[in-house]
Amino acid sequence: MTRIPRIPLNDGTSIPQLGFGVCLIDPAETERIVSVALEAGYRHIDTAAIYGNEEGVGRAIAASGIPRDEIYVTTKLWNDRHGDADAALAGSLDRLGLDHVDLYLIHWPCPAQDRYVEAWRSLIELRERGLTASIGVSNFLPTHLERLEMATPVTPAVNQIELHPFFQPWKDIDTARAHGTKVQAWAPLGQGKNGLLSQPELVDAAVAHGVSPAPVVLRWHLQNGIIVFPKSQTPARIRENIDIFDFELTDAEMSAITSLDEGEDGRVGSHPLDAGPA
Ligand code: NAD
Repeated sequence: MTRIPRIPLNDGTSIPQLGFGVCLIDPAETERIVSVALEAGYRHIDTAAIYGNEEGVGRAIAASGIPRDEIYVTTKLWNDRHGDADAALAGSLDRLGLDHVDLYLIHWPCPAQDRYVEAWRSLIELRERGLTASIGVSNFLPTHLERLEMATPVTPAVNQIELHPFFQPWKDIDTARAHGTKVQAWAPLGQGKNGLLSQPELVDAAVAHGVSPAPVVLRWHLQNGIIVFPKSQTPARIRENIDIFDFELTDAEMSAITSLDEGEDGRVGSHPLDAGPA
């Protein structure tokens, strides 16, 4: 079985650095696909209430027979529940069939509705009650993180943001890290869009290491200390995305991939300030 490194978090817990993401996986297919991932060796699943597939994740975990404490489960508070996190997490736990999650995130800051500090205070309480082991945020800019830090005594364990070779917000990453918050990459493969996986820098490294370009991108994230959970519905890809611990990119390969950054033009998802409430 592949040994996946764990990253220590600021609350004394740790998280497997590689997991499996289930955004846009059809709820009817989720149990089958998550079962493939668990069989392949993944022990960290990233879901969210808005994905509508928490039940399938929970069923796959239950059917796997793998002890609960060997699987790391993340889910997220959706934008219309910032004033109601207690009931929102209760609903997620019910759908997952679990008595606690390992990580609960505020999905988007939604600054226009301005309730994320209130939501954060609720997450602190939920953690104190043992309903989630760790708490964090997603799509927060440094200004949102600073506001939490001023208003409450708890710093998010993670910030889950868009990050891939075409979009590399290093300034925001460095700010989060300076505050003790670990960074998770969503769309670590750039969702396979805009020809990312056929860039010569990736193809050359893939040939050199006898793998395909997606594992090269995932390896680049790992060597940068980033937590990733690529999504795929194809068993062969699910398996190749976890098979990334037997090779190491050289400094020159790392730099070549870093040079693919296109700044704001490289985004494939929403800007954190644009994503409004549901
Ligand atoms: P991703 O970067 O993981 O890309 C997934 C796509 O890449 C697949 O649909 C497939 O087309 C392609 N792909 C995957 N493996 C491949 C391989 N081995 N070879 C070739 N192509 C391959 O995109 P994502 O699903 O958006 O992001 C991963 C996870 O991040 C999500 O499933 C979800 O858990 C999380 N996420 C969070 C947010 C947020 O706002 N917090 C937003 C989006 C995604």
